[in-house]
Amino acid sequence: MKVSEYINSDKVTVSFEVFPPKTDAAFEKVEKAAGGVAELNPPYMSVTYGAGGSTRGYTIKLAENIQEKYSVPVVSHLTCVGATKESISSVLSEMKEKGIENILALRGDRPQEFDGDPFANFKHASDLVSFIKEQGDFCIGGACNPEMHPESENRKSDLAALKAKVDAGCEYLVSQMFFDNNIFYSFLYKLREAGVYVPVVPGIMPITRAVQVENAVKLSGCNVPERFKAIVDRFGDNPAAMEQAGIAYATDQIIDLIANGINHIHVYSMNKPSVAKGIIDNLSEIIG
Ligand code: FAD
Repeated sequence: MKVSEYINSDKVTVSFEVFPPKTDAAFEKVEKAAGGVAELNPPYMSVTYGAGGSTRGYTIKLAENIQEKYSVPVVSHLTCVGATKESISSVLSEMKEKGIENILALRGDRPQEFDGDPFANFKHASDLVSFIKEQGDFCIGGACNPEMHPESENRKSDLAALKAKVDAGCEYLVSQMFFDNNIFYSFLYKLREAGVYVPVVPGIMPITRAVQVENAVKLSGCNVPERFKAIVDRFGDNPAAMEQAGIAYATDQIIDLIANGINHIHVYSMNKPSVAKGIIDNLSEIIG
C-alpha cells in the first residue's frame, strides 16, 4: 500500500521510524523492537538505511518482516552514497519482489572515509528521485530540514533544492527533528511561498536520554529551546524520569502540531516500543 494514501487523507495519524541492525547477531533484537512498535498498529513505519549503505540488506529484510508479520506498510529509506545505477536498480528489483512500494529517497551524509566521490553517480537526492521514477511505480518521499540543511548556502538555495526534489517526483517531504514548533510553521510558510505544495510530515524525536540531545544537535544542527534544556538538566541523570519527560515533551509538540492543522506526524522511535507506546497512549482520544 502506498503511504501517500494516509499522508493525503484528513485522518490524524502517527507513524514511526525504526532503524536496522548493523550485524546478523543483532537482527533478532531489532526485529523484536520493531515488532513492538508495529503492534501499536501505526498507519506505516519507515526503516532507515545505514550510513554508506552499510545496512542495505538489513533495511530490506526488516522492512519485509514488518509488512509480512504485522501487515504494517513500510517506507524503505535509500541513499545515493556510493550508489551506481546498477546497484540502485538491483535494490529496486528486490523491493518490488518483496512488495515494498514506498521509498524515502535521500542523498545520505558524506562518509568520513570513502575511496573516491560517494556521490559520483547520484549527486543530489533529486537525481535519485528521478531515477527511481523511471524504474517503477513507487511512492517516493524526500527529506527536508526546517532549520535548513547544514550544507545549504542560504535559505533560498535550500528551498530551491527542495523544489527540485519535488519537481523530480517526490510526493511528500519528511522533516528533520526540531524541538520548537514555531520553526516548523515558519519553514512551512517559506516552503509554500517557494512554490512547494506537497504534504510535509513533521519528524518528532522523543528525547529520552540526555546524551541524545548532544547527538541530535551534532547530526542536524537543530535548535534546542531553553524549556527543553531545563528538562534535560533536571531529569538527565534519572533515566526513568527522563523517558517520561521526553515522551511528555514530544506529545506536547504533536498535540500542538495537530491543533494547528498538521494531520500526519512521523516519530523517530529509536527502536523503543515503550516510547512509541507512551506517545500513542497519550494521544488515544486524538489520533485514529
Ligand atoms: P539533498 O536533498 O540532496 O540535499 C543535500 C544538500 O544539497 C542540501 O544543502 C541541498 O540544498 C543541496 N542540493 C540538493 N539538490 C541540489 C541541487 N539540485 N542543486 C544544488 N544543491 C542541491 N541518512 C542516511 O544515511 N540514512 C537514512 O535512512 C536517513 N534517513 C533520513 C530521514 C529523514 C526524515 C531525514 C530528514 C534525514 C535522513 N538522513 C538519512 C540524513 C540525510 O541523508 C542527510 O541529511 C543528508 O546530508 C542530506 O540528504 P537529503 O536527501 O536531504 O539531500
